[in-house]
Amino acid sequence: MPAMGSVNPAENTLLLKKIYQALRRAHGPRGWWPVLRPGAGPEDRPVYDPKRKRLTARQRFEVAVGAILTQNTAWANVSKALVNLHRAAMLSGEGLRRIPRGRLARMIRPSGYFNQKAKKLKAFLAFLDDWKSGGRELEGLLREPLGVAREKLLEVNGIGPETADSILLYALDKPIFVVDAYTRRIFSRHGWIRGDEPYDDVRLWFEKNLPAGAPLFNDYHAQIVETGKRYCHRVRPDCPACPLYRRSFFKTIRSWKKLKIGRAFLHS
Ligand code: SF4
Repeated sequence: MPAMGSVNPAENTLLLKKIYQALRRAHGPRGWWPVLRPGAGPEDRPVYDPKRKRLTARQRFEVAVGAILTQNTAWANVSKALVNLHRAAMLSGEGLRRIPRGRLARMIRPSGYFNQKAKKLKAFLAFLDDWKSGGRELEGLLREPLGVAREKLLEVNGIGPETADSILLYALDKPIFVVDAYTRRIFSRHGWIRGDEPYDDVRLWFEKNLPAGAPLFNDYHAQIVETGKRYCHRVRPDCPACPLYRRSFFKTIRSWKKLKIGRAFLHS
């Protein structure tokens, strides 16, 4: 099995930095995670805000709910579900605890798999009730070391590594790299990973080769998602328009040529 990335660790670091710089130059800072502004009215929606410094406790909770709702669906659908909860004044731990599961499922219907997701949200709330949150929702987790918080989140029914890490990074500002399908697709098309490695292997490859820090991991993942949405489609990627369409961003001439002659859509 070929190792991930280059055998030379310094090359990996340089590559990942250059990729990030190219994406950031093309897209600007992404301002993740989108949340409702404090005092948002019934017509407001979650917004991206590159200038935002810190999240409020309520926004942290909203990010965690959004991370669960975004499983297997596009963000636009999640945004509609969050707005439904917000308009009904249910987008809080207190609100979600009060609402019966059936009604919760109807309110989050736009996010898809709504019955399962209502169950997952209830499981997450039960976890917060059991956890040392002191009635302050995610605040208990915020105080825990990253490894402990992650282990606890992964015990919750319906929370896998990607969701747990999204909550840790985007709700709690903990320095962990989030790996998603776009990460696997982009970096496997460029030959740096195979694409089917275990989640934690890919995560650790990024973490080992990038300077640690929640702000960098936050925007790096957001840039990858933007690249996936704009150019790196599952079929027929728009390589000529993509900021990563440079020979130096590909591991081998073979992986570069494969895209050049337009066969990338054959593998995802
Ligand atoms: S669209 Fe092409 S150049 Fe851009 S990330 Fe995907 S495979 Fe790479």
